[in-house]
Amino acid sequence: MTVIRPEPRDSLALVAGYHSPQIDVAVRLNTNEAPEPPPAEFIEALGAAVAEIDWNRYPDRSATTLRERIAATEQPLVPSTIDSSNVIVANGSNEVLQSVCLTYGGPRRCVLTIEPTYQLHSHIARTTGTDVVSVDRNDDFTIDLPAVIEAIETRRPSVVFVCSPNNPTGMVETAKTVTTILDAVESIGSLLVVDEAYGQFATWSALSLVSEDRSVIVSRTFSKTWSLAALRLGYAIGPSWMIEAIMSVVLPYHVDALKQRAGELALDHQAAMERRIATLVEERGRIMAELANMPVEYWPSESNFVLFRPTGHDGDEVWHQLVERSVMVRNCAGWNRLDDCLRVTVGTASENDVFLRELRSVLSG
Ligand SMILES: *Cc1c(COP(=O)(O)O)cnc(C)c1O
Repeated sequence: MTVIRPEPRDSLALVAGYHSPQIDVAVRLNTNEAPEPPPAEFIEALGAAVAEIDWNRYPDRSATTLRERIAATEQPLVPSTIDSSNVIVANGSNEVLQSVCLTYGGPRRCVLTIEPTYQLHSHIARTTGTDVVSVDRNDDFTIDLPAVIEAIETRRPSVVFVCSPNNPTGMVETAKTVTTILDAVESIGSLLVVDEAYGQFATWSALSLVSEDRSVIVSRTFSKTWSLAALRLGYAIGPSWMIEAIMSVVLPYHVDALKQRAGELALDHQAAMERRIATLVEERGRIMAELANMPVEYWPSESNFVLFRPTGHDGDEVWHQLVERSVMVRNCAGWNRLDDCLRVTVGTASENDVFLRELRSVLSG
């Protein structure tokens, strides 16, 4: 008997070329990770914590302590009082976004994305059986507000994604833009997700809009700011009724005991993290100032990366030449509307020195 192989559901293919190549180079500035490991005291405390865990028992299913600690950490940015009921934790903020789509998306529903943006928003939506409607940004990559409002009114998306600061452009949205979108979203009974994976690097946060009677949820992650990409821990802050609904779709005990403890211990080192953020913001300023003196166009970043486009050079060619010099940035050259663009993550001062030196050399060749 012949075996007829099962076909995966339609639209599960990720946009070609999304995954970052994991090439062995000296200077790796392509995935927006923190350039330094977390503080040594954190690693030490985590080691000790391993021995304290009741490994034969399931973890706290609701991760209450970690959620309380996150609420307390983010409270200064939220006007109303928040507690654990306003926080959801998950295996990376990508799992938060997936859970939002599982809760509020699905068959006969769609999400709205504002392109170019983080490609996983549309991909995750599709994997949950949710259609994707996209609106293009203006030529300068600011949000085309009238087009977004019109799409909300005519296409009636269940979920609207705004990424701020936006990946891959690095640009932060204004309070006015996000509030205008939120008003439109609420008028059709939908919700707004603001992806703030890079929120701590920016001057404005949508956490200032979070309240019990607003339909907005803000996702953040330990992957970038907290130097913990390997940990896979993300979270979102929103009204308790929305958090409760989203928590109904996650798998039981989805955040393991060690991860919960690691998150709590990481939050003990907030001062160290803030110093690192300040250093990266300063280095970002230096990179942009140097790029201003090179034959490139770049976009003003409030993130830990900078998008730029070499002028008079083929972006793909510049990327290959940098790799030959053992510097890897993100090659966005083949992405829609980002022809010839490259995205560099802000690294340590010495990594940034190497990047700037090699880029200057490639562009003068
Ligand atoms: C890196 C990134 C994330 C982080 O995903 P995690 O699953 O938390 O590692 C989310 N959104 C954007 C826009 C990102 O660039």
